[in-house]
Amino acid sequence: MFTNQGLHLHTTQCDGCGAVTPSHDITHYGSIESGYRNLCSLCFNADVAERCGLDEFENIRLEPITMTDDTGQSREFHFVPRLLGNILSLEAFELQDSVPAGYQFQIISDPEDDLFALLGRMVEKIRRALSVKYLCEDPRHGLQIADQLVQGHIESDPSVDERTPLLVIDGKEVTWEELGQMLMTFEGWQFKLELIDRSDEP
Ligand SMILES: [Zn+2]
Repeated sequence: MFTNQGLHLHTTQCDGCGAVTPSHDITHYGSIESGYRNLCSLCFNADVAERCGLDEFENIRLEPITMTDDTGQSREFHFVPRLLGNILSLEAFELQDSVPAGYQFQIISDPEDDLFALLGRMVEKIRRALSVKYLCEDPRHGLQIADQLVQGHIESDPSVDERTPLLVIDGKEVTWEELGQMLMTFEGWQFKLELIDRSDEP
């Protein structure tokens, strides 16, 4: 994937270890006084662990895991743990063309917690999400809301000029307009919209 003209579009060289690293694993880190560096998650976590005196922190790279959803489709999840001072964030996401896309999850934990136990909790969280489908394909009307409840996450739609949401529901992208059309099945009904932090349970 790397060309001799330079780094691949979705990779960045880590200023710590020098490794060519997928951009989703890079943190732009530093301050105005000390300058900024692009660090891979291993170098970033090592730096934060040292500054915060977290000698026990297990600094390891987590390998991707493939899981099957309820339609039998295989989905590959990538994991990035990040030490953020007194919290440990574990993110899980799918990739499309080397960029995070589809299902995305985050768990916030304590830096002293066992990383493999945290990974276990994350896998359970993913399994629960994969077992539910909020949308269904109707032969006549296309994608429809399956059962009066929809959950997902909000991204922005780069194909539209204004600030327009792009929703990810059941791990797939749904445009704001597509959701609007699905809602018209319920014309005249009430609705409730609740916003939930990335790391909270819906
Ligand atoms: Zn590095």
